[in-house]
Amino acid sequence: MITHAKIHFNDCGTPVADDFDDVYFSNEDGLAESDYVFYQHNHISERLCSHPREQFVIAETGFGTGLNFLNAWQRFATQTEKKATRLHFISFEKFPIQRQDLARALAAWPQLSHYSEQLVAQYPEALPGCHRLHFGEVTLDLWIGDVLDSIEQMNFNRHGLVDAWFLDGFAPSKNPDMWQQSLFDAMAHLGREAATFATFTAAGFVRRGLQQAGFKVNKVKGYGRKREMIVGELEHTTATTNVPAPFVRHTRPLDKVAIVGGGIAAATLAHRLTARNIPCTLFCADDELAQGASHNKQGAVYPHLQADVSPSSELFAHSFLYAKRLYEQLANDVDFAHQWCGVLLQGVKEEGKKRHANLLSKNNWPQWLIQGVDAEQASDIAGIDTPYGGLFIPDAGWVSPVELVQALVTHAKQQAQLDIHFATQVTAVNRVGERWQLLCKNKGYDDFSDVFICMGEHSTELLPENELALQSVRGQVSHLSASDNSRKLNTVLCHKGYFTPAHDGSHCMGATFEKDTQARDIRDADNRTNWQQFAGFYGECDWTQELQDINGAKAAIRATLADHLPIIGQYAQQDDYIAAFPLLPKGQWQGQQPLRHQNPGLHLFTGLGARGLCTAPLCAESLVASLCDEPLPISNRVDQALHPARFIIRDLKRGQIK
Ligand code: SAM
Repeated sequence: MITHAKIHFNDCGTPVADDFDDVYFSNEDGLAESDYVFYQHNHISERLCSHPREQFVIAETGFGTGLNFLNAWQRFATQTEKKATRLHFISFEKFPIQRQDLARALAAWPQLSHYSEQLVAQYPEALPGCHRLHFGEVTLDLWIGDVLDSIEQMNFNRHGLVDAWFLDGFAPSKNPDMWQQSLFDAMAHLGREAATFATFTAAGFVRRGLQQAGFKVNKVKGYGRKREMIVGELEHTTATTNVPAPFVRHTRPLDKVAIVGGGIAAATLAHRLTARNIPCTLFCADDELAQGASHNKQGAVYPHLQADVSPSSELFAHSFLYAKRLYEQLANDVDFAHQWCGVLLQGVKEEGKKRHANLLSKNNWPQWLIQGVDAEQASDIAGIDTPYGGLFIPDAGWVSPVELVQALVTHAKQQAQLDIHFATQVTAVNRVGERWQLLCKNKGYDDFSDVFICMGEHSTELLPENELALQSVRGQVSHLSASDNSRKLNTVLCHKGYFTPAHDGSHCMGATFEKDTQARDIRDADNRTNWQQFAGFYGECDWTQELQDINGAKAAIRATLADHLPIIGQYAQQDDYIAAFPLLPKGQWQGQQPLRHQNPGLHLFTGLGARGLCTAPLCAESLVASLCDEPLPISNRVDQALHPARFIIRDLKRGQIK
C-alpha cells in the first residue's frame, strides 16, 4: 500500500515534507528555479526545434507537487516553433501528496493555473503502477511507487525511451535511499542517444555515479545563491531492453491504417490512433456501429479484481482508472448515457462470500477502490433493500455501450482523419508488396501500412492461418420495465449476473452464459433464465414485487481466450517463432535469428470478453504506444500477458510444439 506524503506549509507558503524535513521547491522562486535547473539546463527549447521524433520524452524522479511538470508543459505549449509536436512526461513518486495539498501548493502559481487546474482535476488516487493522463499534446505517466521498483516494471527497448532526465528528489543527504548507483545506471539504460540530465545538486557521489553510468558530467552555476549544480549527456548509448526476446514488440510506420470492426475495440483504437494524428479507415460490416458484443443498452464498468495483485488484476485496476478518465474527458465533448453510480458486488452464495472475504483479508487494494460492506450498508448505498453484503466499488458505474462507441468515433473524427465504410464486410486482407489491401466482396481498398482486426468472435476469419483459440460465449441480456420502487435503485448490482439502475424506463438484467455458439437470436428461454436467477436472489425484496414485464432483450457473442485476457499486437504465427527461437524448449530465451513475421503489420485487438468497456481504452493506448515507439502505460508483465504470442511461447517452452 502507498503512504501519502505528510506535509505542512512553512512561513513562506512552501510545502515541506515532514518525513524528509525538506522543501518541495525553493522558498525564493520555485518556478524560476525549476525552469533554470531542469528545463533550461536540458536545453529543451532548442532541442524541440531539431528533435528527430514527433514526441519528446522527459523523465523525472519525484513528482511532488508537479511544478516541474507544469513548467515543462507551459513552456512546451507556448513554444510556437518546434519540430516535436508532443511532449511525454514520465514522473515517479513514492509518497504522493494528497489532492487538496496539491491544489494548495499549486495555488502559489497563478500564472500556471490554466495547467494546474487540469492536473488537479485528473490527479489520480494512489495505486501503485502507471497512471497515464492526457492533456491534449501532452501526456503524463505518473508511476506511483519507488522509482527503482517502477523502472524495473517498465518496458524499455533497446534504443531507450528518455530524451531528458530531471533528476529531482529531496537533497541526497535527506533521502539517501533514492540517490543510488542503481538509479544512475537505470537513467542510462533508459536514455536514448544523446539523452541529457540536469540536477540541482553537485554532490560528489552523484557526479561520480552518473559518470560511472555513462554520462559526461559538467558542473555549472546553480540557481540564485547556489554555487553549483550538475548537468550532463550520455556519452554512448547503454540502452538495453528488459523484455525477453520472444516478447519484444516491433515498431511500425503507421501512416495509413485500416481497422476492421465496429465495437468498443475498434472505436477505442481509432480514438488513440487519431489522437496521434494517424489517418484511419474503419470497415464496419453492419449499417451502424456497435452492433456486436458492444450493443447492450447498459454495460457495467468496473475492475475485475482478485485478492492477489496478479497481472490480470493489475490490468483491470489500471484499465478501469484509465477508462474512467478517458470517458469523463470524452463526456465533456460528446454526450453518451452513463452514470458513475458505483457497483455493488453482492455475496449471494457461499463461494462468492468467501472470495470477497479473502480479497478483504489480503488487503491488497485500497478502500477508495473497493471496500467491504454488510447488507445494511449495501442497502443504504443501493437505495433499496438488499439482503446481501459484499464489495462496493464507489467509482464504478454503467455506460450505454452503443452511445459510448459512437461518442468515441465522433471524437476521433475531430482529432484526425477517420473514414468509415458501413455495411462493408471485409472478406480478405492481402499483403501487396510492403502494403496491405482489403477486399470487400468485389471491391478492393489499397495501400494501408497496417491492418487491425477488431472483429470480436469473427476475428480469426481474416487470419492467414487459424491458430488463435478464440472461444465464443453467447450472452443474452433482458430488459425489464422499471416500477416506482425499482427506480429507487441507484447503483449497479452484480450477483452472478448484473442488474442496472433504470435507464429509459427499463433495467438491464443478465446475462446468460453459453459457450461455443455464435447464435444471436433472442430466446424466451434465456429471458426466463435471467428472470429466475434474479428472482432467486431478490424475489423476496419489496422493490422487486411489481417487476416482471420483460420488454426486450439483446443477445451478443463475446470472444474470449483461455486465460480470459485480451490479445493485442502483431498477429503471431507459430512458424515464425519456431524459426527464431528453436532453443526455447531448452530454456534459452535468446533468439537464434531475428524474429521475422510473415505478415508484418497485421494486428489483433480482440478477446475482450464481457469486459471490453473496462479494458479496451488502456489496451488500445498501449498497443498504439508500442507501435509508435513510445513509453508504454502498462507494466512489462501485463504487456506480456496481453501479447499475441503468449500461447505459442508457452507451448514452445513446454516442448509442446515440434
Ligand atoms: N519535482 C517536484 C515538484 O516539481 O514539485 C519536487 C520533488 S520533491 C523535492 C522530491 C520528491 O521525490 C518527493 O515528492 C518525494 O516523495 C519523492 N521521492 C523521494 N524518494 C523517492 C523514491 N525513492 N522514489 C520515488 N519518489 C521519491
